[in-house]
Amino acid sequence: MPDVLRRSTAILTALCLAPVTLACSEEAQRDIERAALEKVGDLATERMAGGDSGGDGKNHSRDFINIPIEVRQIADNVWQARGVGNTQMVVTSEGLVIYDTGLSIQAAKQRRLLLEAVPDLPVTHVIVSHSHADHASGAKIWLEPGIELVAHQEFEEEQRYLKELEPFYYGRNRMLFPFMPEEPPDIEILAYGGLVPTMTVDQPDILTIEQGGTVMEVLATPGAEGADNVTLWLPKEKIFFSGDFFGPNFPQFPNVFTMRGEKVRKPIEYIQSLDQVIALEPEMIVPSHQDPIVGKEKIKADLIKMRDAVQYVHDRTIEGMNAGETVYELMEEIKLPPELEMTQIHGRVSWAVKSIWEYYATWFHWDTTTELYHVPRSALFPEIAELAGLESLTAAGEAHITAGRNIEAIHLLEIATTAAPDDVRAQTALRQAHLNLRDAAIATTNNTYEIDWLSLRIRQIDAILAGEDG
Ligand SMILES: [Zn+2]
Repeated sequence: MPDVLRRSTAILTALCLAPVTLACSEEAQRDIERAALEKVGDLATERMAGGDSGGDGKNHSRDFINIPIEVRQIADNVWQARGVGNTQMVVTSEGLVIYDTGLSIQAAKQRRLLLEAVPDLPVTHVIVSHSHADHASGAKIWLEPGIELVAHQEFEEEQRYLKELEPFYYGRNRMLFPFMPEEPPDIEILAYGGLVPTMTVDQPDILTIEQGGTVMEVLATPGAEGADNVTLWLPKEKIFFSGDFFGPNFPQFPNVFTMRGEKVRKPIEYIQSLDQVIALEPEMIVPSHQDPIVGKEKIKADLIKMRDAVQYVHDRTIEGMNAGETVYELMEEIKLPPELEMTQIHGRVSWAVKSIWEYYATWFHWDTTTELYHVPRSALFPEIAELAGLESLTAAGEAHITAGRNIEAIHLLEIATTAAPDDVRAQTALRQAHLNLRDAAIATTNNTYEIDWLSLRIRQIDAILAGEDG
């Protein structure tokens, strides 16, 4: 895609910066630019939809790319443009309020379709639910002088670190999601970052926007996908716009922290935010991924279940820590009780346990002195393999696999393959252990991140084995 984007930079330059510009009003210029961006976005989306699924054909994140960009009316005064990230539009007699702006490459089309669906009214506010690219990076396509950009007080700080670490995070995301373009967009309007909110809200305050008789409350609801979550509440219509507050499914066990690696998220803050939403008694939830959810009683029950599940895992983790149990014991022991069972397709209870443990105790686990120093255990793997013998290590790994102990197998086989990356037998056994774990994940939680990670490792081993064969 970088090629596509580079070509489009040339198109944009030709269209907007050529002498024609002199005859162009600023607005006409923006329209030309948006039309070109829509073409670029269509190409980029198409490219990703046809991109590498990661070998197992089960990369759930990739499924989002195949969601058609189309507009639907979901309430009398609410429209939604679907896409990887949905964009919502509240229509008032005095103007349009936008909640979330989707991916930058899809925003031009989402914007055009939404504006075509309603009478000619000005956009007055663009609210971004949080700083993640699939929600905020389309905002620059919408913004024009006079339009307020509404975000959480912490938005700029969250955007800052995500931008500063973009190569780190983008590289990780691309390993998990190989359909992503090799590099992030290099056209400024499509690139991540650079948003400066003109209105902010911080808990416990509520930012009320009253326009054309419609009351909209912007709530600071941090904790879910970061410290800068805002949600939108329409008290009269009883519609709750959740952004990514619940994650991509509702209800589900949430990602208390993501394994992609980001700044710490605060579990108690999330529980407090869930309490705030429960008290609203929404009749409809409009998330920025997937479809709206309707039904007051069911929504209430599910919200309470999500809150109780996070609280339960949090409290059991603290009890275990105080009782002197190790983080690994707790990861194995703590399970949701039957009445709180819910899908772990996005968040995984054992990872929540580990992340809550680390939230309170941070980086030094008190397991071994070597954790305090810079030499990791893996530095000794070649020596251990030499002492144990590569064949014995591999055979022991294989025996663990046969007995269904795939994690133990990986421990041993990683020693063997670190010492001897070219050893086909050890790599093949290591691959098998990962395949077994992936099959188990698919058959149980179906957790997307676990499956994507295991697929990544299988791809890496396949590349090594292919090199060996070639
Ligand atoms: Zn999202």
